[in-house]
Amino acid sequence: MSHQPRRLGWLAILVGSALLAAAGPALAGEPKVVLVTFDGVRWQDIFRGADPKLVDDPAYVNPDIKADVVGPPYVDVPDRGAALTPFLHEVVARQGVLIGDRDKGECAKVANDLWFSYPGYNEFLSGRPDPDLTDNGKTPNPNVTFLEYLQNQPAHHGKVAMVGTWDVFPYIVNTRRTDVPVNEGFHGTYPTDVKTAREGLKLLARRDQQAIYIAFGDTDEFAHAGDYAHYLMAIERGDDFLRQVWDYIQSDPYYRDQTTLMVLTDHGRGETPLAAWREHGSRRAFQLSPTEAPQYNETGVPGSDDVWMAAIGPAVRPDGARAYASGGCAHSAQVAASLLTALGEDWRAFSHLPGQREAAPPLAFIAPPKN
Ligand SMILES: [Zn+2]
Repeated sequence: MSHQPRRLGWLAILVGSALLAAAGPALAGEPKVVLVTFDGVRWQDIFRGADPKLVDDPAYVNPDIKADVVGPPYVDVPDRGAALTPFLHEVVARQGVLIGDRDKGECAKVANDLWFSYPGYNEFLSGRPDPDLTDNGKTPNPNVTFLEYLQNQPAHHGKVAMVGTWDVFPYIVNTRRTDVPVNEGFHGTYPTDVKTAREGLKLLARRDQQAIYIAFGDTDEFAHAGDYAHYLMAIERGDDFLRQVWDYIQSDPYYRDQTTLMVLTDHGRGETPLAAWREHGSRRAFQLSPTEAPQYNETGVPGSDDVWMAAIGPAVRPDGARAYASGGCAHSAQVAASLLTALGEDWRAFSHLPGQREAAPPLAFIAPPKN
């Protein structure tokens, strides 16, 4: 700019200031990421939609609810996957990436060997699967998450926040060691997904953040309770929330075309026998907690390490996802490095933190954002 004539320089400053004013406070023009997760949602339900065998079983769906609320919208439709999660199928899969459909030979898995929540959240937030995290207790996480890593950098400090439907999240993000705000707004009460959605949208509307994580939990609660109807409805509400988030992102110059949205689950669930849809966990997990669903102590719940992933935005390269439909497998552990890459950060610096395990590399469909 220094070689330009003085008048042109002033013009550039004026135009630049006008653009900044229109786009909101600082950070307009900077890459941003929004991560949204749904606890324990199976790939089967995302891609195949509602399972008629579960819907027809009165143990899992009250026949009155089936006739009125579940059958017509979720089962008696030409494309059950798109009927349950229309935003994921009609927008994300077409403009970005939606992977994990075993019926198409796609592979996405957790890399941890337990297949339940704390190990799953630690894995994708820190990029470091940890065999020593063996329960869902309120244990401060020894592993550094990408949120903590960003918060510790002057360039990103104060621009990282999370809301989530689980009172263990402050421990998984280790708010004792770092000051990433978690569940600001409803701290002290047990949250539900409704509160999480409300606080998540408020956080987004503040327009002063660069990395936002919104974590939903109702799906896992309803599944463990054996309530397939409410599990399906929680998934549909979740998909609609994603549409609201994406519409907001693309309507606000603070976020538009600068924001990568990633969507995940922390683990899958079983498929056979039919009752296994309620549960998840590896053989090791059930051996560590033998009183929890003892019928799985010897086998675990096969397939509950199978997950799905979705991503849309300027860091997403859909062609890269082909690797995971032709023999390769995407792992949840790759998400932390992916989100740092989407922010234009060098994930290798995060991977080589002193005293930490190395983090997994980014997913093949994520690259530094264009511009
Ligand atoms: Zn669970």
